[in-house]
Amino acid sequence: MEEIVNLKKVRKIYNPGKTEVVAVNDLDFIVQDNEFVAIQGVSGSGKSTLLHLIGGMDQPTAGEICAFGKNLGEMTPKELARYRNKNIGFVLQDFGLIAYRTVEENVAMPLYIAKESNSKVVEKVNQALDEAGIKDLKKRKVSQLSGGQKQRVAIARAIVNRPGLILADEPTGSLDSKTKDEIVELLLKLKRAGKTIVIVTHDESVAQMADRIMYMRDGSFVDQK
Ligand code: ADP
Ligand code: MG
Repeated sequence: MEEIVNLKKVRKIYNPGKTEVVAVNDLDFIVQDNEFVAIQGVSGSGKSTLLHLIGGMDQPTAGEICAFGKNLGEMTPKELARYRNKNIGFVLQDFGLIAYRTVEENVAMPLYIAKESNSKVVEKVNQALDEAGIKDLKKRKVSQLSGGQKQRVAIARAIVNRPGLILADEPTGSLDSKTKDEIVELLLKLKRAGKTIVIVTHDESVAQMADRIMYMRDGSFVDQK
């Protein structure tokens, strides 16, 4: 099996030299191709920081992060931006959508950034909406949608560029249990389609669907199952 992500002794310190916070503490972490990994831990244990580091949205204070065979620390800002756009689909608890825009405009956002042609944008947006089960919502404004529908839009946007790795930070945190089950089913469908998924979740039933659960505390993994 191929390693999609390999972290070696990764450390992230906020406020260096002042009131330092060690958010991630010399962490080793490997994620294999097509794995579905859940990360659990109390608030403040470093879960979001870890996802941001893997996604190239934040840089470690020390250690090495390789993803898709490349060392993120050796990339220029431009290469990092391209890495994020091409390989990573990020799903957030609060969706991170633009409320006054339509569903299709929101989903197309990563494609605009990648400067795709209009015909490609239409084709890829339609496919992502189809995979997320929200084709019929295409022309609706995001502000008019339910929480579960918004989360599907966020997932459609995360997969529209066909990234290999989906990073999801509490994607079911604000959803009722039926909607939560639907979102989990959608993530499992993405795994079956070959995606690699790393998900932070407080929800035991969501974590149980993963191939592996990693428990985090004070920036370290303290257990796994
Ligand atoms: P989790 O997602 O598990 O709740 P975080 O990764 O958000 O944990 O935070 C880990 C630690 O780092 C916490 O102590 C938090 O207060 C601190 N932290 C997170 N982001 C910042 C930041 N931008 N500046 C300073 N400290 C931060
Ligand atoms: Mg968090």
